[in-house]
Amino acid sequence: MLLEITDLAVEIKGKEILKDVDLYIDKGENHVLLGPNGAGKSTLFKSILGLPNYKITRGEIIYKGQNITDMPTDERISKGLGVTFQNPPSIRGVKLENLLNIISKEEKEEVKELEINELGKTMNFDKSFLERDVNVGFSGGEVKRSELLQLLVQKPDFIMFDEPDSGVDIENVELISKEINKLLENDKKEKSTKAGLLITHLGYILNFVNATHAHVLLNGRIACSGKPNEIIDDVRKQGFGGCATCNQK
Ligand code: ADP
Ligand code: MG
Repeated sequence: MLLEITDLAVEIKGKEILKDVDLYIDKGENHVLLGPNGAGKSTLFKSILGLPNYKITRGEIIYKGQNITDMPTDERISKGLGVTFQNPPSIRGVKLENLLNIISKEEKEEVKELEINELGKTMNFDKSFLERDVNVGFSGGEVKRSELLQLLVQKPDFIMFDEPDSGVDIENVELISKEINKLLENDKKEKSTKAGLLITHLGYILNFVNATHAHVLLNGRIACSGKPNEIIDDVRKQGFGGCATCNQK
């Protein structure tokens, strides 16, 4: 198993947001987390990332066989955890190019620069775009593409995407999906060594990204788990409310 979450409970400022969350994700699997606004999807994402203010009061998170429940965020990232935020901050004074340089896995300077420019092109960014300050004045689609470009350079093994499709037009959802599939090695014939957790509110992106498992989070609990197609069909027919009585788990 790449990621094992057992009996997780999380509090923010003294308020319990997540309760009894169990989630197991192995290499080659792409899990989708669905749920209404306020269900706790981003809270789970930020708890796995280890951000401050997300206090784990019960349970544990094991990543690559190591207990990371109390590990600082930067160490989790060094262990191959990658993320895209729902609303990443703008960073005035830091060029996207410089950020990419710092997070790149590549050691040789010339190769690094070539790779950054090549990967930038696959995300429809030219050289002058890479010289702009991170996210400052970027459109919704550009922000999401910039987040993915950072992952392409970072080459993580387990990747979490928090609503990569929110606020993005249909054309860009297809481009983003293609890159997500590439990052998760869904486009390769042999079994992927990567895994992903994709959070989506609407599920439209699942027309393009190959998901292997789906879960519905309701009121801080995983109410239902199953095959993505079946879960999506049920949600379309009965809304998220129908998941409360579902016993597919
Ligand atoms: P989702 O991503 O599923 O829409 P969130 O995880 O963002 O849901 O939020 C779950 C609950 O936690 C909501 O009730 C939200 O108001 C609360 N919450 C999230 N972040 C904070 C915070 N920083 N301070 C207080 N409450 C928060
Ligand atoms: Mg959210």
